[in-house]
Amino acid sequence: MTPPSKKALVPFVSVANMMAFVNLTGIEKVLADLAQVIEADFRRWPEFDKTPRVASHSNVGVIELMPTADASFYGFKYVNGHPTNTRAGLQTVTAFGLLADVQTGYPVLLTEMTILTALRTAAMSALAAKHLAPKGARTMAMIGNGAQSEFQCLAFKAVCGIDTVRLYDIDPAATAKCARNLAGSGLTVVTCKTAEAAVEGAEIITTCTADKQYATILTDNMVGPGVHINAIGGDCPGKTELHRDILLRSSIFVEYPPQTRVEGEIQQLDADHPVIELWEVFLGKAKGRTDSRQITLFDSVGFAIEDFSALCYINAHIRETGLFEDLDMLADPDDPRDLFGMVQRAK
Ligand code: NAD
Repeated sequence: MTPPSKKALVPFVSVANMMAFVNLTGIEKVLADLAQVIEADFRRWPEFDKTPRVASHSNVGVIELMPTADASFYGFKYVNGHPTNTRAGLQTVTAFGLLADVQTGYPVLLTEMTILTALRTAAMSALAAKHLAPKGARTMAMIGNGAQSEFQCLAFKAVCGIDTVRLYDIDPAATAKCARNLAGSGLTVVTCKTAEAAVEGAEIITTCTADKQYATILTDNMVGPGVHINAIGGDCPGKTELHRDILLRSSIFVEYPPQTRVEGEIQQLDADHPVIELWEVFLGKAKGRTDSRQITLFDSVGFAIEDFSALCYINAHIRETGLFEDLDMLADPDDPRDLFGMVQRAK
């Protein structure tokens, strides 16, 4: 049998190897690095092919493909969102992704992206807050204490200097889990019995709940002047977290308007309601926070360029660690036109 030629093997990062990479590098360093890589890519926004993600909805969840490319690399992520999954002991969100060389079309990396999505989502949130949150913010309310929550808290510590988190979840077991996982992180962790208690004294409010419906995690009276809201969980048609009145009082910052108008909190507003694109803020072409009483809102839905940045980051650093396996996933006969002959010789 002709062995597959070395050049056609594709490095694959398993869940076990991704965990090893994060623990070897240090999670706060990974989060801070990812925030930097995402910011650099957002600053060259016009260089990317952009399209809203391709979503396939069912009555229990959604499965999505998220592609983008620059002149060198093409990347995509497969991701699902199934809020009822946790009841069956399954994750709400799972993902994997692929990076390919634009010149040849050959994949250069295949990786798990469930952990990588939690990392990049947290890095993106903290990056937006670095530009939008009130100066000197130290306390964040973290509402929704599921899979994403600890990553969010640690990214805000690493990138924005948050030192206190106030946790709330409708399920006290989720809050207890989050508090346990953050013990020893250097964050002061306060567990709260209501969402109202969690937002007390918080300069930043993160909502990260999962429910396939129009939910009202924050009502208008819970949001005082000067606060920054990081709204993660409203990321699908018919799935929002904030009362509409909060949106009407806020300066709203988004990733990619054609996707956010369909999936984000702003699906509750008129299609021409003004929003500010984050890449323009990062470039200084648009203003971020302009006064201390302004309510800033990052209406996060998750955009393909963030996954592309994460894929490129892993691609650049995984080889030196050896934390990957080579996958024989590309048919690559020595004579490119003799695909059939290669199959015959393998008998
Ligand atoms: P998860 O199911 O692990 O956690 C969600 C938590 O929200 C659960 O602990 C649940 O008890 C809690 N919750 C539900 N309703 C609540 C309410 N009314 N008040 C307080 N808590 C409530 O899910 P996850 O993986 O942590 O994801 C959270 C959300 O973030 C999901 O909606 C997911 O789709 C979204 N998400 C967004 C991005 C993005 O880029 N914007 C990326 C990943 C995930």
